[in-house]
Amino acid sequence: NEIYLNGAFVAPEQAMISVMDRGFLFGDGVYEVIPAYAGRPLRAAEHLQRLENSLRGIGLQAPLSLPEWSNIFVRLLAAEPKMDQALYLQVTRGAAPTRDHRFPAQPAPTVMAMAKPMKARDRAVVEAGVAVVTRDDIRWLRCDIKSTSLLAAVLLRQSAQEAGAEEAILVRDGLALEGSTSNLFIVRDGQLMTPPKGPLLLAGITRDLVLELARAAKIPIQERDIAVEALRQADEVWISSSTREVMPVTQLDDKPLGSGRPGPLWRRVDALYQDFKADLRRA
Ligand code: PLP
Repeated sequence: NEIYLNGAFVAPEQAMISVMDRGFLFGDGVYEVIPAYAGRPLRAAEHLQRLENSLRGIGLQAPLSLPEWSNIFVRLLAAEPKMDQALYLQVTRGAAPTRDHRFPAQPAPTVMAMAKPMKARDRAVVEAGVAVVTRDDIRWLRCDIKSTSLLAAVLLRQSAQEAGAEEAILVRDGLALEGSTSNLFIVRDGQLMTPPKGPLLLAGITRDLVLELARAAKIPIQERDIAVEALRQADEVWISSSTREVMPVTQLDDKPLGSGRPGPLWRRVDALYQDFKADLRRA
């Protein structure tokens, strides 16, 4: 399992960066996680577009072109061609001679990519649904940037873990925006709803795919604000992310949600998502 680092493929023990790297000192970097099924990345172009948006958001030039990234993915995934893997990409503003918040005049970004095995979702967990807790969103106001500055997300997810929950749903000004590492969907009276994209949440690639699949299946969709009361009264709640796919939520702040079981619309959309993956595997 080689790691791509600044133009070379190296063994993990050889993959080293400077302690002066701004990713290490300031969390001054951005990243992506791309799921790949039997060697085929899911929505790679969309993930790389989001990486570019994140880079622009922090004032960094794209270090590699789309075809260059693609070649890296092929090589990283080739070691385990049959397995499902998650590609992890990270670009930081690199090492600078001194620890100075201001950008270095000539930044030399640190570019890293690796592939890790991705476990299939545990069927029993999916069938039971997961528990979530609500938490005040203590993150910054540019959550649309997929930044490696993840301290708020780390503390929030840990807080959920300590409360026996899979995820923390983040609430700002009475609105439920997303999870600490996932996007949020609710179902009410047959309508699928998710908060609109904007600076207060990450535009999930899984979120977009779920909306696309639902739209194609003529499921009514609304991209609109979700008040925390609407979350509590929802018929169904789901979270989505590249590694979780579409996960039903059956408990919110220690109380059962909806029927307390994964809902019928989730079952439909999850089946569409599984079909999409199966097609990708066969492609
Ligand atoms: N929101 C946040 C804060 C995330 O960290 C993530 C991904 O981990 C997501 C949403 C889901 O994004 P994606 O579907 O692209 O994995």
